[in-house]
Amino acid sequence: MNYNEIVKNQTDYFNSNQTKDVVFRIKQLVKLKSVVMGYEMALYEAIYSDFKKSEFDTYTTELSFIYHEIDEFINKLPKWAKRRRTKTNLINLPARSYIIPEPLGVCLIIGAWNYPYLLSLSPVVAAIASGNTVVLKPSEIPSATSAIMAKLINENFSPEFMIVVEGGILETTELLKQNFDKIFFTGSSPVGKIIYQAAAKNLTPVTLELGGKSPALVTMNCNLKESAKRLVWAKFLNSGQTCIAPDYILVDEAVKKEFLIHLKDYIRKFEYSFENNNYVQIINERNFYRLIELIDKKKIYYGGEVDLQKRYIAPTILTDVTFDDKVMEDEIFGPILPVISYSDLNHAILEIKYRPKPLACYIFTNDIAIKNKLLKDISFGGGAVNDAMMHITNSNLPFGGIGNSGLGNYHGYAGFIAFSHFKSIIDKPFWLEPNLRYPPNTEKKLTWLKRLMRL
Ligand code: NAD
Repeated sequence: MNYNEIVKNQTDYFNSNQTKDVVFRIKQLVKLKSVVMGYEMALYEAIYSDFKKSEFDTYTTELSFIYHEIDEFINKLPKWAKRRRTKTNLINLPARSYIIPEPLGVCLIIGAWNYPYLLSLSPVVAAIASGNTVVLKPSEIPSATSAIMAKLINENFSPEFMIVVEGGILETTELLKQNFDKIFFTGSSPVGKIIYQAAAKNLTPVTLELGGKSPALVTMNCNLKESAKRLVWAKFLNSGQTCIAPDYILVDEAVKKEFLIHLKDYIRKFEYSFENNNYVQIINERNFYRLIELIDKKKIYYGGEVDLQKRYIAPTILTDVTFDDKVMEDEIFGPILPVISYSDLNHAILEIKYRPKPLACYIFTNDIAIKNKLLKDISFGGGAVNDAMMHITNSNLPFGGIGNSGLGNYHGYAGFIAFSHFKSIIDKPFWLEPNLRYPPNTEKKLTWLKRLMRL
């Protein structure tokens, strides 16, 4: 089937109204959950063969989220999908006003490679729960996970409703020529711009979940040991190949030495290795070479060992880094952690503010005034105080970036909003007809209208 046919068939199916039925949507969610569960072992095998991601990590960072998202939609969809009454303004009385959530139509979802199941299937859950049809294009880079998702969906769902199309740049470029009702993209900011431009041709709404350099700020008034522990975990999970991983650390000069020792201690304690199932390979050789170029040997505080054959880069801390270093140019997206010290917090804040708005920011402090100042001063997608990355686990928090790090949100109800249109209706009876708005326009009518429209 060519892409034109796929979209045409999905449009026909959507226009048949079947996906608008809430019972139908819940049935599809239940089915998706049972299909994913049935494929669990195959999903673990595929992702391990792609980049040695363990069952433990795959369950805790991908599948558990997908199951939670499905369960949440199953439980809350009947309420979320209901039309909602709202107040009617005086000029419209007598009338009822309400908002009808409705699906957008045929949605294209493009996934990234670093959490291949989560970043493909989590938006799929939100899209079908909201009553849409879906064309999913997972990342081609982890080829086994892409293939297993294609099998999982294409063998269990009809292509008019949901289909996986595999491929890379070429295929995505062709897909983007189709007229979709929504494009949901997860990936890098440069490719996000390509997607946005393609969507603009058809005025297609987009959600762009992008990346960037997410800072962690460690002030002198915090629990340094716990902060180091939480940051080490967040940075080296998935070998740093996480969009919301702390990209670099800004630490108060006064506590830098002690903090670095804690960082090193926790890296040792956590014993990162493929054998311990708590570390993954760098996804491919291209990224391996890109990353080793970022390690300035003179600045290694800890780590630095690499093995091309195994696509392994040890958890590495760089110290005495400045904003002019190569490692500070772009998102690192690997297990390299630059530590920059500051002597003036205001100066550190400005360094962040004059760079592209980050996807995440992490603030480590026990000083309430400093916490509130940082939360107010710095613009970023989302984040945490005295922790890192855990905001993503709370589906009550809309997840997304701002500026260069993204456009729009999802997770939980935010996902429902991302894939819905909210149709606003004034519903009037015929039994009363105030004639104020109809010609002839008189001074008296204008006086009344001025009064009423203020209310
Ligand atoms: P990428 O932008 O290279 O690729 C993402 C998707 O776009 C893939 O499916 C790919 O096939 C497609 N693609 C790539 N080049 C294209 C082109 N020229 N035209 C059309 N389509 C193209 O991103 P990636 O390497 O898969 O993922 C890493 C990036 O994604 C990082 O920047 C990371 O921060 C970001 N990311 C963001 C989130 C988030 O939720 N905000 C989550 C994960 C990753």
